[in-house]
Amino acid sequence: MAEPKILSGKDTAKEIRQEIAVEVAKRKEAGLKVPHLAAVLVGNDGGSETYVSYKVKDCKEVGFDSTLIRRDDDITEEELLELIAELNVNDDIDGFIVQLPLPEHIDSQRVITAIDPNKDVDGFHPTNVGRMNLGLDGFLPATPSGIIELLERNGIETSGKHCVIIGRSNIVGSPLSVLLSRNRKVGNATVTLCHSRTKDLAEMARQADILIPALGKPEFVTADMVKEGAVVVDVGTTRVPDNSKKSGFALKGDVKFDEVAPKSSAITPVPGGVGPMTRVALLMNTLKAARMQ
Ligand code: NAP
Repeated sequence: MAEPKILSGKDTAKEIRQEIAVEVAKRKEAGLKVPHLAAVLVGNDGGSETYVSYKVKDCKEVGFDSTLIRRDDDITEEELLELIAELNVNDDIDGFIVQLPLPEHIDSQRVITAIDPNKDVDGFHPTNVGRMNLGLDGFLPATPSGIIELLERNGIETSGKHCVIIGRSNIVGSPLSVLLSRNRKVGNATVTLCHSRTKDLAEMARQADILIPALGKPEFVTADMVKEGAVVVDVGTTRVPDNSKKSGFALKGDVKFDEVAPKSSAITPVPGGVGPMTRVALLMNTLKAARMQ
């Protein structure tokens, strides 16, 4: 078997960021507004702090304006809803996100539903979820949309392929199953959506032309679960303790990369695969929001 193609989300995302930066420069030249993303961060969760800081950094790199709005974790649901109402009518802000998870006393779904769907660049509002399901234009959730972009830009054919997704969450597996099965250039796949109740998961996975584990169990997918020549897109990112790293942890995917890679025709690394594509997809949505204003 030939060496697998490494589907580098890092390189693909860089290419997209450069394209976005060019468009931002053109907008400036034409006297148009620079896209502006706001991120609401409640509390001091370490993971959320990191993700939001990446989002702010990414905005800077492509020339977007960004605003980080911090609130203590004792903010009431009503106060957070008031903040969202203000952001909804703030013409300077094209799109905003509320970083999840929120503290337990806040109903996340109520908060998401309060966001103006035209500013919902995370694509989590029921209106955007519905529009996606109907194949209508709207904001797509970042991880599935980033994966579609990665497949497209790396010339991975999906039409007529059997795609097996492991994990049915609202932010990854379920929307990805919709996007891959719709009648689009990247789509037209026959999709099997697996979860914790799926019987004989290994046998299911072996039938995949394109295997997409998104379950959050480090190194769950082993070589015996993968068909020779399959494309493998590893969504999993779990922090595992690693004393050799400055941060004290390493990111592990759902795939045992060293043994699966030789069997695959193309595979994403972790880190540097789906993660950077998720980040850039938020920028794509923010640019889209600015275009819509
Ligand atoms: P989640 O909400 O915890 O969902 C996990 C899904 O996996 C559930 O549908 C669950 O089934 C299924 N599952 C769990 N154990 C299983 C097993 N042993 N066999 C079969 N299915 C199993 O997770 P998520 O938010 O979608 O995230 C999944 C992973 O992707 C995590 O590692 C997360 O960090 C990562 N992630 C990465 C990115 C990125 O940008 N790279 C973005 C988002 C998420 P049930 O529904 O039956 O419980």
